[in-house]
Amino acid sequence: MAETKYIFVTGGVASSLGKGIISASIGKLLQARGYNVTIQKFDPYINIDPGTLNPHEHGECYVTVDGHEADLDLGHYERFLSIETTKANNITSGRIYKGVIDKERRGDYLGKTVQVVPHITDEIKRNVKQMGNKYKYDFVITEIGGTVGDIESLPYIESIRQLKWELGRNAVSVHLTYVPYLAAAGELKTKPTQHSVQKLQSLGVQPDILVLRTEHEITTEMRNKVALFCNVDKKAVVQSMDVPTIYEVPLKMQEQGLDVTILEKVGLPVGETPSLGPWREFLGRRNNATEEVKIGLVGKYDLQDAYKSILEALSQAATYNDRKAKITVFNSENLTNENIAEQLAGMDGIMICPGFGQRGVEGKIIAAKYCREHNIPTFGICLGMQMMVVEFARNVLGYTNAHSKEMDEKTSHNVIDIMEEQKSITDMGGTMRLGSYECVLSQGSKAFDAYQKEHIQERHRHRYEFNNHYKAEFEKNGMKCTGINPESDLVEIVEIPSHKWYVGVQYHPEYGSTVLNPNPLFLAFVKAAITK
Ligand code: GLN
Repeated sequence: MAETKYIFVTGGVASSLGKGIISASIGKLLQARGYNVTIQKFDPYINIDPGTLNPHEHGECYVTVDGHEADLDLGHYERFLSIETTKANNITSGRIYKGVIDKERRGDYLGKTVQVVPHITDEIKRNVKQMGNKYKYDFVITEIGGTVGDIESLPYIESIRQLKWELGRNAVSVHLTYVPYLAAAGELKTKPTQHSVQKLQSLGVQPDILVLRTEHEITTEMRNKVALFCNVDKKAVVQSMDVPTIYEVPLKMQEQGLDVTILEKVGLPVGETPSLGPWREFLGRRNNATEEVKIGLVGKYDLQDAYKSILEALSQAATYNDRKAKITVFNSENLTNENIAEQLAGMDGIMICPGFGQRGVEGKIIAAKYCREHNIPTFGICLGMQMMVVEFARNVLGYTNAHSKEMDEKTSHNVIDIMEEQKSITDMGGTMRLGSYECVLSQGSKAFDAYQKEHIQERHRHRYEFNNHYKAEFEKNGMKCTGINPESDLVEIVEIPSHKWYVGVQYHPEYGSTVLNPNPLFLAFVKAAITK
């Protein structure tokens, strides 16, 4: 294909309407037609990346294979499209401004006054277009974070205006809005949508397609009204109703011809409607599963989004095991030796979550001990794995004050220690061991059983590691190191072979788990949980 087509997705009326899901769904439908598609997210905040943001406020930090700490929407893109995103897929205002300021200091703009227009907007446009120019995608979908009308997102909207003008037919603007239902009047209201579109128009952008989020069916009459008042084609007004699972959204968009409308707008042949076979099969299995698998999530954040990829990976694994995932979140700060049996009663499996800092770690250790002693399938990720190691050192090896150096600087048994290369690091942003690294699995281990191969690549995000000084002692006493990084000898996986399923991984298998390629360890964990 000759020219890259650019789709811009903006949101209006309210935040959290699911722009990420709509972007991923559009991507999915175009990909199913054989196009090479990528999705990029612009976040209008000043942080260089979300790595330093509290998950309690902003949801999980997602990690790409190339080690970029990214917005969780990139997780949706990967789960829907089974593509790998990179640093180029998530840009913040901080990065845009830093790029411009660095150029200014180098003297690239010598003599000029550096301004939002054209310098910041040019930098934004360069980051959009490089996806097409350098990486040669057929379609680049660019999602703009925030809501139209925010001060922060103005330079992005101005960049879209310019790009639409420059690219002509090769650019399409999709605007997602909300249509509230007023119970007292018994009516859906389109006025907020009209105002939001007016706002976009006042900034020089005429949306080509409107996606209306709604809790009730939108009538043809209302569609026509929105089309008329907002200057869009009738069939370019689509609704996005609440559905039981986000994975149904692409089908709902396809039913309304959203992909066809896009192809027509950019002047590409429409051809046959793709069947989305494997995707439908997945949904069929998901809808047919009636029995539950009860998984307890032991973590410290109450916000669902803080463990987004883990929740999605668990629910995918449940589907492939023909079960419905029933997930109960346990705040580890509330777990004690006294209440643990009662708290975890009835759980088929326990996930011990990743995390940073002291808060809530003792509860994770208590949960690990209980599950180890009661043969409950247990899966620890990153800090979860580290706390499984600490628990084993304390209660099996007898080192009662064993800990991670992260939590206790002075522990005499630092079974989890800071990595050598991390010792001299002072900056917090983007400096962890990040991204994909190789791991070699021991034959006959539960991990090997799951992956069915010796060499795997998984993503990381940590500063601390298993202290190899203790390795022989752990192994002698029943906790084996079954996954090792071949270059650094870093322990990536620990497990207890005599236990039903007790596996801790230093890496984050959840990030790479997609709808059509679920992660093998999640599948094996859920399988162990249902055969309890
Ligand atoms: N805090 C731990 C470390 O830095 C674990 C990190 C995590 O769970 N992602 O090693």
